Amino acid sequence: MKVLVTGGAGYIGSHMVKLLLASGIDVVVMDDLSGGFRDAVVGGEFVVGDVGDRAQVERVLRQGRFDSIIHFASFIQVGESVAEPAKYYRNNLTGTLSLLDAAVACGVRHFVFSSSAAIFGEPKFTPIAEDHPAQPLSPYGFSKLAVERVLADYDRAYGLRSVCLRYFNAAGADPEGLLGERHEPETHLIPLILRAAGVSSAHVKVFGDDYRTPDGTCVRDYVHVTDLCQAHALALDWLERKKPSVAFNLGNGSGFSVNEVIATARRVTNLPINVQVAARRTGDPAVLVADSAAARRDLGWAPQYDSLETIVQHAWTWEKKRRQDLINRSAGITKKI
Ligand code: UDP
Repeated sequence: MKVLVTGGAGYIGSHMVKLLLASGIDVVVMDDLSGGFRDAVVGGEFVVGDVGDRAQVERVLRQGRFDSIIHFASFIQVGESVAEPAKYYRNNLTGTLSLLDAAVACGVRHFVFSSSAAIFGEPKFTPIAEDHPAQPLSPYGFSKLAVERVLADYDRAYGLRSVCLRYFNAAGADPEGLLGERHEPETHLIPLILRAAGVSSAHVKVFGDDYRTPDGTCVRDYVHVTDLCQAHALALDWLERKKPSVAFNLGNGSGFSVNEVIATARRVTNLPINVQVAARRTGDPAVLVADSAAARRDLGWAPQYDSLETIVQHAWTWEKKRRQDLINRSAGITKKI
């Protein structure tokens, strides 16, 4: 099997590339390195490029017979998408349309799409199953929902079958310690907590403690990045078995508050973590928890790393490596001077 992974130098994409290679799949990565890192791609062929560059995508796709595309490449900051919707619609929507047109033109039959819980907007009920109304609150969420709709139409018209995977809160790191989360700037809760661990001059901000939740802080469903990647591998199988286009919600089905995540990080790191309560972040629903019964039943998805403790432990191993790299780099610079 040959697979094109867009955004394969990013957080989830790089873990996916590792998993595909371990299964003996031929992988080509395309990433424009706007958010990813070349050294996060552990193997396969690497092409620097933008998914919206139709000529380049077609050149890549015509190099061999690609069975599938797994499309991770996307901008991911909800707040930024409100301030700069053009950036999100251009990349996440127009760029994806161009990629899809190239896929159809080159005879690719299967497409796995990184969608998001952000398509649902403010939850009407929880846990959130696939039939929950989709009313996104941000351009980011709307760009994901629009692509889901486009994919349904492209299946009907052009026979391109797809699986949309709506991630809840992707977290954790490669259990073997080779890869992890590296967003610059970092906006996600778990890496920010761990960056503050044991650093007396740093603190983590808690965005709101007056939500209608048991401890007043937001509740989220954290799902291990490797488990998410397993779901993509199962989605490829699903499409190979000629099953219909479908969308699945991916989470562990249990919610943890921001305060609970901080408490878990204190236990795992055994270090003090300073906290400051700050204002609510715009667009944050109080509770987001997935009902993933459909993915478990239909795909046979069985998350392996479903305890928050394990997720934070793996993220902490990665954070310690990041700190060591920073020390080594500054030691190298000092030596040069
Ligand atoms: N959060 C927080 N402080 C931070 C970053 C995030 O309190 O510095 C909260 C945020 O309001 C949300 C949860 O942590 O309730 C998870 O946020 P994250 O940005 O990691 O993921 P999202 O839920 O936006 O996908």
